[in-house]
Amino acid sequence: MSIISNHIILFIIVVIAAISGYKVRSLTLSGTFATIIVGLAILLAFGAKGLFLIGTFFVTSSFWSKYRADKKKSMEDKIKKSGARDAVQVFANGGASALFSMLYLLFQENFLLYMFITSLATANSDTWASEIGSISKRKPIHVLSLNRVDAGTSGAMSLLGTFSALCGAFLIGIISDYLWNEVTFQVGLAIGMVGFIGNLFDTILGATVQVTYTCPNCGLITEKTNHCGQSTIYKSGYRFLNNDTVNFLSIVLGSLLILLFSTI
Ligand SMILES: [Zn+2]
Repeated sequence: MSIISNHIILFIIVVIAAISGYKVRSLTLSGTFATIIVGLAILLAFGAKGLFLIGTFFVTSSFWSKYRADKKKSMEDKIKKSGARDAVQVFANGGASALFSMLYLLFQENFLLYMFITSLATANSDTWASEIGSISKRKPIHVLSLNRVDAGTSGAMSLLGTFSALCGAFLIGIISDYLWNEVTFQVGLAIGMVGFIGNLFDTILGATVQVTYTCPNCGLITEKTNHCGQSTIYKSGYRFLNNDTVNFLSIVLGSLLILLFSTI
């Protein structure tokens, strides 16, 4: 089969996967289009291997977000957007991967492949940490103050969430070792480690500079700009650093770190 017809079949798979995400309400309509764009960039650069890797992120994070969804209700209250992902959230998590894919397409350098994989390792680590960590029975601790805080608070870390973050990052690293000859076992492990560190960036940025609001009605500290049917009041952090920009920044930071590892 020619590479062209092969790519057309893979593109149809991307579209079907994105529409399925819409059907099961993992994606909004804008999120569905964004997923197709990210999928296309990855398909052009890395073919079936790249799609398999982002598919792993897509399928496992959808699975964990549905897992014990009833238990996560009170946490969802704190987080600005929950449930179905829109275009902004898709690009926050997958935009860096799409960017590194396009760069790889242009320059064909191994380090761009490593950055692509690391961006997915960080995204997967972050998603597993928050989705699995939120069902932890014990209250998490704050990454900086070490005080116990409510689950879902920015900067919250639980033992279960941290363990999940490690598993999520190393899964991507190890799968990549199987998929690409260019990814040795050592590089796969380095990607797992750096993906986990990228997730730590996310937690620390969330605890320090990310914007928070207070609900004037119920007093909840939240990332939401609206709560109890009214506008929330700015409390702390930089307004442009919401959950999505912090996600994107930590993925880029994680992906830059792999450059240090891969030159050692
Ligand atoms: Zn409220």
